[in-house]
Order: sequence, then C-alpha cells, then structure tokens
Amino acid sequence: MPEAIKLLPVGLTESALAPADRRGPRARPPRHLADLDPAERRAAVIELGQPAYRADQLSRHYFGRLTDDASEMTDLPADARAQLTGALLPQLLTSQRELECDGGTTRKTLWRAFDGAFVESVLMRYPDRVTMCVSSQAGCGMACPFCATGQAGLTRNLTAAEIVTQVFAGARAMATGAVPGGRGRVSNVVFMGMGEPLANYASVLTAVRRITDPAPNGLGISQRSVTVSTVGLVPSIRRLTSEGLSVRLAVSLHAPDDELRDELVPVTRRWQVAEVLDAAWDYAAETGRRVSIEYAMIRDINDQAWRADLLASLLAGRLAHVNLIPLNPTPGSKWTASNPEVADEFFERLASRGIPVTVRDTRGTQIDGACGQLAAATGPTAGSQALTN
Ligand code: SAH
Repeated sequence: MPEAIKLLPVGLTESALAPADRRGPRARPPRHLADLDPAERRAAVIELGQPAYRADQLSRHYFGRLTDDASEMTDLPADARAQLTGALLPQLLTSQRELECDGGTTRKTLWRAFDGAFVESVLMRYPDRVTMCVSSQAGCGMACPFCATGQAGLTRNLTAAEIVTQVFAGARAMATGAVPGGRGRVSNVVFMGMGEPLANYASVLTAVRRITDPAPNGLGISQRSVTVSTVGLVPSIRRLTSEGLSVRLAVSLHAPDDELRDELVPVTRRWQVAEVLDAAWDYAAETGRRVSIEYAMIRDINDQAWRADLLASLLAGRLAHVNLIPLNPTPGSKWTASNPEVADEFFERLASRGIPVTVRDTRGTQIDGACGQLAAATGPTAGSQALTN
C-alpha cells in the first residue's frame, strides 16, 4: 500500500526508497562511537589528533547524558567538539515518521538509514517498566509466513551502532520527558523488531554489550532486562551460551511438532524441535535464566488441544516459560488469531501441567507496531489506522 510512502515528509525523494545497495553492496554505515569498545574509542580519538581522555568525555555525553549534540558538550573545546561529534557521532538513523497509540505510551518510529534502508523500533511504556523493541536487520531472511517482516526478505544487517541508536533514541525520549507519564528510563530491551538477531550475530552481541555496559561505557541497562529472540538457529544459540551473558533467550517455537514447525518457521527445517529445545535447555542451564518459548496462536493451525499437550510434555520440568501471542494480522495472510475459547483451553492445558504460561499483551496493533507487523516502507504497513503522526 503506497500509504507508507505518502506519509514520508516532503523532500525525501524516490531515490531514498531505492534498495539499500544503491551505493554499492559494500557501502558500510559510517563508524560510530557505539560500534567501539573503550580501547577502540581511545584509539579512534588519538587517530583524530585528540588526547585519549576525550574518548571518555564523549562517552559520558553519549551514554551517560544521552546527548549527541555538540553544542551541549561544553567541557570540550569548540573545535574538538565539532571534530569528535562529526567523526564519531554521525547520525546513523533519521526518524521519518512517528506513530503513537495508548495515549502516547506506545510509539513506533520509522527510521531511514544512510543508504535508504528502513527499520522500525517501538517504545512501550508500562506502569512498571519501559521496553524498547528494536530491529537487528532491515527486513528479515527467515520468511515465516505469518510475519509481515519476513515477506519482503532481507535488505541488510544493521551495525551495532544502528541497533544501539534505536535504544538511545528511546532512552533520550524518556529522559527528556517526551513520553507521557513524566521523565523516566528505558528499563528493558527486546530484540523482537525486524530481523533475526542471531543471523546478525556479531553486531547484535556488540550492541548487547553497549546497551548493558555500565555508563559511561554503555547505556547501563541490566543484562537480565534484555531479551534476544530467535527462530531457533541452533549453532548461534550454542555460541550465545558460551558468551557469559545473562540476557534472556526467547525461542519462537510456534509448533511442538516438526511437521508444522517446518511450515511456520521454514528456515529451521535444518533443526528439529528437539535440537532447538536442547540448545535452549543448555542455555538455561548455563545462565540460570528461564527460556521464553514464544507461541503465536494461529486459528486452526497450531492451537489444537493435542498440540498444547505435546508442548507441555516437551517443556515439563524445564526452565521455561510459555508466552502465547494472539496472532496479529498481517497483510495478505490467510491466517487469523485463535478463537478466545480455544486459546483459553490451550492456556489451561499448559497451566494445569505446571508450565508457567502468560498471554502477551499485544500493544501497538493500531499502529502496526505489534509482533510480526513491522515492515517499514518495504511492505504494506504504515499505519492506515494511525492515531497521530
Ligand atoms: N526473528 C526473531 C525476532 C523477531 S519476531 C524471532 O522470530 O524470534 C518477534 C516475535 O513476534 C517472534 O516470536 C515472532 O514469531 C512473533 N511474530 C511474528 N509475526 C507475528 C504475528 N503476525 N503475530 C504474532 N506474533 C508474531
């Protein structure tokens, strides 16, 4: 639907909507402070002819005070300010459109990257927490048939800084009081926006470290409050297990049997449900964190009582928690959410066998900002029912 394009501000030419490789497949987003660890930051600053301690000053502004505005960096000499921000704090993502609902406490931002790639992020403010849902890739190569992002394919991986920038923007909006409810902080980050985080492993890992390192090295959000969600790429889950992190792992299972899962999550045909879950249990054992099993409830597809029972038997006695997600509508999909009574029974069957289970609050459906609805300008999304822009 061309609405997505119509909503873009004047001045954004058609060329900006061209595929992301207009500048050649090798064009990389510019280097940014958030791509670098503290030692690399010092090296970069020295390379610019500045004393090493300027790296810490810059980090304090960006990660600690949440500013990337040179004019606010009054402890830096004026010429150094311009040079350092120009070289290390380039604007990686430009907000193209903001949609909000829930009285402004759910906000979806459409971002444009340097090469015309589009991604989206969503901020959700709850009474007890503020969650940023971030994208790890522009588009997604996993092709799950019920997910809007999967329909257009993968444009490219995001860099670590492009991921961190999304969290930074939310943290800044909270710190400046731009979100109704008063000033606050981003407490949680979920890698449940566009993309498969474990298919962009190195950048996602670096981003996790930048998001969770204590300020001023990073944004200081607790690792325990960060969730990495995956379709179940077994070797990457195993690699993540060895990182010594305590982030939460979410596995988008959606079916307890291989036959149906092969259809719903086609990329994981290489791994059986049993292998995916084995990797998940090893992650749980290593980190002590309960694994979140994501299960989109799709009417007459995966919501039968026998599948609830099979799922319960796979999870019994494991460090796991099931998150049932009423299927969110996506354009062109023939599937719809389970009947409420059927979903209730599915829930009860898990709960009665002692499996911890919750139903996900699907915020943001009015702005196509809920799970599986993020498609940026690459797909027919873009808030036909948007409340504001
Ligand atoms: N690629 C990762 C992270 C992004 S999706 C993953 O698959 O886990 C975040 C969650 O939303 C996943 O559990 C995904 O399966 C789910 N999802 C996708 N499309 C959906 C839809 N239409 N309705 C409800 N949930 C959906």
